Amino acid sequence: LVERMQGFGETIFAEMSALAVRTGAINLGQGFPDEDGPAGVLDAAVEAIRTGANQYPPGPGLPELREAVAAQRLERYGLSFDPATEVFVTVGATEGIAASVLSLAGPGDEVVVFEPYYDSYAAVIALAGAVRRPVTLRPVEGRFTFDPDELRAAVGPRTRAILVNSPHNPAGTVFTRDELEVIADVCRERDLVAITDEVYEYLTFDEAEHVPLATLDGMRERTVSVSSAGKSFSVTGWKTGWVTAPASHIRAVQTVKQFLTYAVSAPYQHAAAYALRNEIPWVEELRKSLQAKRDRLITGLEAAGFTTCRPQGTYFVQADIRPLGFTDGRELARALPEKAGVVAIPSQVFYDHAEAGAHFVRFAFCKKDEVIDEAVSRLARLR
Ligand code: PMP
Ligand code: GLN
Repeated sequence: LVERMQGFGETIFAEMSALAVRTGAINLGQGFPDEDGPAGVLDAAVEAIRTGANQYPPGPGLPELREAVAAQRLERYGLSFDPATEVFVTVGATEGIAASVLSLAGPGDEVVVFEPYYDSYAAVIALAGAVRRPVTLRPVEGRFTFDPDELRAAVGPRTRAILVNSPHNPAGTVFTRDELEVIADVCRERDLVAITDEVYEYLTFDEAEHVPLATLDGMRERTVSVSSAGKSFSVTGWKTGWVTAPASHIRAVQTVKQFLTYAVSAPYQHAAAYALRNEIPWVEELRKSLQAKRDRLITGLEAAGFTTCRPQGTYFVQADIRPLGFTDGRELARALPEKAGVVAIPSQVFYDHAEAGAHFVRFAFCKKDEVIDEAVSRLARLR
């Protein structure tokens, strides 16, 4: 294994899902729903296979999906993108992020990330030979946020991009317009590109509203926005995502992506286009049901002795383990199947500053109510 990938080992999601299978524990680790997306979307994929969508689609994506993505960005956010040159289909958001980072940052360049960060960010920055500069999200009045001075201090002469994930996994933060303005200011002042990971764009709770960074003044031309079908339509196994950006950025992303995978699975592109066009009301119901599940899990975790910050979006909660007398989340997560028959993710792996994250574990609540109830009743044994 090349030196730049030393230390990455197996992803925490693979490790913890394998642990769940091995021990029979309830898996609140890896984030995937235990109920599939809408029947119409599933049928659209089957129908696409039956009607011959089985050979290579165009590298940049099926026109049908690119048009559906452009329509969605316009209707929901007022952002206008040319489907032919400013929308690009990728193998999940993961490949969209990877191709964006690889097209923008090279050896010695720096990319700013907010920690805790989704694990693929660190890996792909390393693949690029670049260096991550983490800005820590810390709980302030029940919500994870950042210090604007720390963000400014993280930007140096070699910084090429800021990677922004909102709604944020695993902190659950939906950045407010004020927070986004701070990020936008830094991008404009320091001439940086923002790569935004918006996979949880629909999964926001209470009054929180997802504001795409590209909608802020002067940001459309310097933002590469990434999203995917997996979370919105509960089809995480489909790995169908997209990038929207000005044409020059899309060309750069395309240059990289075409040699990673060339194209994206055709049937799922048809089905994702169908989903964007027809199933937004279904997503609204999903959002409401997840909000109730969030409250259900939080109530249970607090009763079991954890403290939590109530997420404004995503389907994850970071739980502080210190009130239960634990300090090392990795140790606890490895022992949790035996101690309580539950699997969680040690958030530590998403941090460079261990002191900021070692005492959190992440639980997913995209699960049936009875599964959440059983998990929290088991966790009550930890006291
Ligand atoms: N970004 C974040 C923040 C995620 O939580 C995930 C995980 N599902 C992804 C990207 C990956 O999305 P996809 O499966 O579409 O590649
Ligand atoms: N995004 C999912 C999570 O955060 C996991 C995706 C994966 O397994 N890489 O749990």
